[in-house]
Amino acid sequence: MVSKESLKRFVQSTGKIFDIMSPSEENVQAILEWIMPDLDPDELKVSLVNYYRYLETQEDRYVPYFDPIPGLFHRYGMIQKHQKIAKKVGLTWWPYIQKYVANPEYVLEMVGRKKPEIKKMLATPLGDSYIQYFTKRLYQFFDLWFHEFPRWHNNCGGLIVYGLINKNTNAWGFKCRTCNTIIPVEKLDEITYKHRKHVNGGKYGSPKSSQ
Ligand SMILES: [Zn+2]
Repeated sequence: MVSKESLKRFVQSTGKIFDIMSPSEENVQAILEWIMPDLDPDELKVSLVNYYRYLETQEDRYVPYFDPIPGLFHRYGMIQKHQKIAKKVGLTWWPYIQKYVANPEYVLEMVGRKKPEIKKMLATPLGDSYIQYFTKRLYQFFDLWFHEFPRWHNNCGGLIVYGLINKNTNAWGFKCRTCNTIIPVEKLDEITYKHRKHVNGGKYGSPKSSQ
C-alpha cells in the first residue's frame, strides 16, 4: 500500500494523481487511508461520553464534542494541510471510494486499524450506534464538500471555509473567510456561489450551477 507520505510527495510532485494511478483496490485503499480521520483513544472516550449525553437529552450543545468533521480540519489527517489536493482527489475518486465511506464496518476497520483499544471501545452497543452516526456524518460531509466546494460568498466574494464558528460553544461549520459570515448548509445555494466569475469578488451574485 502507498504510504501517506509517499502519496503526498507523489501528488505534490506530479499534481496529477489521476492520470497515472488506476482505480485499483490498492489505490482506493491508499486514498481512503489518506482522507479518513485518525482517532485518538482519549478523545474517542470524550466523544462517546458526549454522544451518550446527546442521545439522552437531544441537546445540540453536545454535538461539537463528538462530531468527527472538525477533527478532519484541525490536527488530524491531511485534509487541513492539503485541502485543494484532498478535494480534487476525493471528487475524482468518489465513484470508487463512496461505497467504503458509506459502510460502517469498513469505517470501523479504518479508524481502528492502528489502535486495538479503539476497536474495543467501539465494540459496545453505544460504540456501534456511534460508528453508525460517524459513518453517516462522514459520508454526508464528504459528498457535500467534494461536490459543492469551492464556493464563494455572494456579498463579498470571500472563499467559504470550514472552521470554528463559535468559540464559546466550540461549534464548527462553514463561514466566509473574508467577512466571517456563518453559512448554514441549507443556505449554501442562497448566499454563496460555486463558479467564480470575477477574480476580485462576486458582488453580482450567484451564477446558479446546474447541479
Ligand atoms: Zn463574505
